[in-house]
Amino acid sequence: MKANYLRLSVTDRCNLTCLYCRPSKSVTQLKQDELLSFEEISNIVGLAAEWGIRKVRITGGEPLVRNNIIDLVKMVSRIKGIRDLPMTTNGVRLEEFARPLKKAGLSRVNVSLDSLDRKKFARITGQDNLDQVLRGIRAAREASLEPIKINVVILKGINEDEILDFVNFAWGKSLIVRFIEYMPINGPEQNSWYFSNASVKEIIERRWGTLKPLPFFSHYSPARYFKIDHTKVVLGFISPISQPFCHACTRLRLTATGKLRPCLGSNLEIDLRKPLQGKNRDYEIKASFDLAMNEKLKRRPEPLYQRNKYMFQIGG
Ligand code: SAM
Repeated sequence: MKANYLRLSVTDRCNLTCLYCRPSKSVTQLKQDELLSFEEISNIVGLAAEWGIRKVRITGGEPLVRNNIIDLVKMVSRIKGIRDLPMTTNGVRLEEFARPLKKAGLSRVNVSLDSLDRKKFARITGQDNLDQVLRGIRAAREASLEPIKINVVILKGINEDEILDFVNFAWGKSLIVRFIEYMPINGPEQNSWYFSNASVKEIIERRWGTLKPLPFFSHYSPARYFKIDHTKVVLGFISPISQPFCHACTRLRLTATGKLRPCLGSNLEIDLRKPLQGKNRDYEIKASFDLAMNEKLKRRPEPLYQRNKYMFQIGG
């Protein structure tokens, strides 16, 4: 197996402060000159494509708060070999950006949304922005940034009562709702929010009957997909804690500062910024991808906690 998918973080900034991802106490922001420039990103992605990367997901932080993000999408979409260019966003600015993103060459979007209740949304994210996100999803549908996946992290005691509401939300809108297990990446003591996907599935099946597996849908994805019988509703389950998917994972990560990471659960970060300036640039960058890949293949079975690091800093 060789990685063919790069998750590209373009900023650590975000317009939300989700309590499990970017709690306000954790926020220190990178300076502009610490971020990879668009030219640096394009050079790295170009070499990554020569190495074998075919899919690049733009993420962050919140990618839509990076200045001139449309220009970056244009640059990456023109790189030979990149066949799929999706983005993961919180959707707050999607209403404004959906059309220009599509025009610039973005393939599709995943929107992270953990509550359909205005007050609870504000409690989780720190902002009263639910309406903007819903308008953003509508705009993404109108701009054909599809299929649109709605990523929901179920947190015990916070939004577990909204599981069936999310199923209803997807109904008839050709949205694919995916339930993602919360990962206590900071350490095991943060485990109290964990709510297993087995429990999510049970709640749905109690209401809608046994879900029908869609194995062909899941081939290259960590998500397992199911259909509600006799309907077109497709649901996904991503279960990094209860059903780790290292064997099927084909992704590498590039942080906003230019560190290549083999995996979310690895502490190894390979700096690409320095070799990018060097004489043996192409060789060294590709060798770094080889190194990350070798590390990835070691596949540690135990979780490795990222002390004092949150997802917005690594790139979600
Ligand atoms: N701002 C963008 C967004 O909200 O989609 C992209 C970055 S965000 C870090 C990407 C995803 O990571 C979000 O869906 C968020 O819910 C998820 N995430 C963050 N921390 C997580 C954790 N500890 N466990 C599971 N998912 C997490």
